Amino acid sequence: MDISVVIPLYNEQDSLQELTSRLVESLENHRYEIIYIDDGSNDNSWQVIQKLVASNSHIKAIKFGLNYGKTQALNAGFKKAQGNIVFTMDSDLQDFPEEIPEMYQMMLYKNYDILSGWKQNRQDPVLTKNVPSKLFNAVARKSSGIELHDFNCGLKAYRKEVVKSLDLYGDMHRYIPILAKFKGFANIGEKQVQHQARKYGTSKFGSARFLIGFLDLITLLFVSKFANRPMHLFGTLGLLMFVLGFFSSVFIGLDKLYKTFVLYIPARLIAENPFFYIALTLMLLGTQLFLARFIGELIRNNKAKEQNYSVSEEVG
Ligand code: UDP
Ligand code: MG
Repeated sequence: MDISVVIPLYNEQDSLQELTSRLVESLENHRYEIIYIDDGSNDNSWQVIQKLVASNSHIKAIKFGLNYGKTQALNAGFKKAQGNIVFTMDSDLQDFPEEIPEMYQMMLYKNYDILSGWKQNRQDPVLTKNVPSKLFNAVARKSSGIELHDFNCGLKAYRKEVVKSLDLYGDMHRYIPILAKFKGFANIGEKQVQHQARKYGTSKFGSARFLIGFLDLITLLFVSKFANRPMHLFGTLGLLMFVLGFFSSVFIGLDKLYKTFVLYIPARLIAENPFFYIALTLMLLGTQLFLARFIGELIRNNKAKEQNYSVSEEVG
């Protein structure tokens, strides 16, 4: 199988027919499969899909009983995909199926791990989508070092090994290139693709997406840096704070003793010394962080028993 096209959808009954016929036309010279993942739609999407599956043996479909979100829909599609190159695209006809053959050729010739679409001429509302998205992409670019203009473009191509090594959770579909890079798939290309305004239905993502998006990005960068060695951050910081707090309290105590018994001057109560509270807080926080480190190590140790690597290629 050359190509798998993984298409998550949620309430997109009106687009599916046209999408499928354009896909079938674009892919006719390839060995391919189209995998629809119905992410718990409550319109007639699934009925439409069942008809499509019955009419064309290239089409396969998965249905979720609940709306788990785009990330999990992609996850299910990736598990099922058999093609050497796995495409993802949105089902709302904003992405063009006609881009696939050329992207497929680029994947083969340039040996990319990922080829991401770039909606340079984006046809979405300017204030609620385009502007925040520019900001989002700039942050993602700076923090990950991946030079993509459009991280969240629905239309992307992956080598099979890449999608098989991903385990996606939350709303991480926005960061697949970053996740892939952390697994050693760093040959990431970009191709300008066409984009058109939504024809039917409405967008499934509100403006809350950007807040969630940024929180996810922070988590991701944190996890990627420290997941394998939680003690480096928590342990060091905890130890530092504890030691600082401990010696400060020793100093405060000695200072009091010295003033009372050597200099014979009335020293203020330890509890009246503001530094006492700082020292106390430091020790408490230090201990907490140290504990966080132990818990991190514990989780990490359990995880070590699971698969911890990703294969980049396999032959023979
Ligand atoms: N989608 C999905 N599950 C969801 C939300 C969206 O499968 O919970 C699909 C949706 O049907 C579409 C794609 O993800 O095929 C992108 O969604 P949408 O077009 O709403 O996003 P936008 O283009 O507005 O960023
Ligand atoms: Mg869309």
